Amino acid sequence: MSATLKGFSLQGTQKIYPDSGVAVTSNTAVVTMETPELKKGEILAKTLYTGICGSDNSAAIGKANFDWVQRPRIIGHEFSAEVLELGPGEHGDVKVGDIFTPLAMLGCRDDDCPACSVAKWNLCPQKEIIGFHRNGGFGQRVVLESDRVVPLMQGLTPVQGALVEPLSIITNALYNKCHIKPGQDVVVSGCGIIGLMSAEVARASGARVLVTGIAHDRNIRLKKAEERGFITVEVSPENSLTAQLKQGITDSNGIPFGKNGKVDVLIECSGVPAVLSEAIDVVRPEGDICVIATYGTDVAINATHLTRTSLNMKGSMGSCREDYMTAMKLMVTGVFPSQFYTDLYDFEQVTQAFEDSIKAQIMKAVVKMN
Ligand SMILES: [Zn+2]
Ligand SMILES: [Zn+2]
Repeated sequence: MSATLKGFSLQGTQKIYPDSGVAVTSNTAVVTMETPELKKGEILAKTLYTGICGSDNSAAIGKANFDWVQRPRIIGHEFSAEVLELGPGEHGDVKVGDIFTPLAMLGCRDDDCPACSVAKWNLCPQKEIIGFHRNGGFGQRVVLESDRVVPLMQGLTPVQGALVEPLSIITNALYNKCHIKPGQDVVVSGCGIIGLMSAEVARASGARVLVTGIAHDRNIRLKKAEERGFITVEVSPENSLTAQLKQGITDSNGIPFGKNGKVDVLIECSGVPAVLSEAIDVVRPEGDICVIATYGTDVAINATHLTRTSLNMKGSMGSCREDYMTAMKLMVTGVFPSQFYTDLYDFEQVTQAFEDSIKAQIMKAVVKMN
């Protein structure tokens, strides 16, 4: 095998703050990679397309909640790849030449594990994430366990394959946890890719959707949301969503959004603690708050208000094989228009792709790996 295989690797843990003048990629490097010997149940694959996740960005800029990741580490858990070689042991239906996307989260697979015994590896206390616990999809080759392989559905392209994992997070959250109904008014807070995927899936379920963002998002991400026909609202501490809903927001047909300043569902994708605190003022009694984001600090909630309004606040973590199948179906049928959200880069531009993602200049960077 060629000795010139490359990977994009996390190296340092320096905390990089916006506008500090430090390059956002000073913790990372393009490295020459070696492929380890295949162990029992493992396969070698050639990566095709790999997407950059918000968590990859967080790790790259040294956020404390990713300090546990060992460096150096070739990151990447959203990718498509082709099977090149099967290691020793059993591999089920997996064969050389298969195009697949891996389950990002690998459970302990113990029969006694309450999560793994029902095939929900995403909820296993011992779960390991490819690209964090072991080298991942930003290497031109990847070694992984064959039982985490999910073959791409017929009709799905390898580029779309890189979007299956993030979209599966949304299908799990919206279909299994939040149960959005036709005719509902839904707020998606945050207009990154997870926010806009949520907006698309919520609308496909029959909801009318409003997407929020901040001033920084105005020309790119909120604009994208607007082009897709979502109601968009720019929020700030001085002009909160609560205040704007109270003043009255209408859709493009002039029809009021929400009722008396309240909506049916809020899907939290911003990761901003104050936005989650505010959410319980925005949702009507017995409405749903679906929490997909994670937070750098504890979040203060007016729990008494939560009780008095009988709100349902639900968290949703990751996804499992079943959610991958749903996500692939949504792309194959065009329900989720993946091409609209994909920004393609060649591997030579991988550092640029990270820079653009970290600076929120694009929606979803997907890197052609080979
Ligand atoms: Zn991710
Ligand atoms: Zn387990």
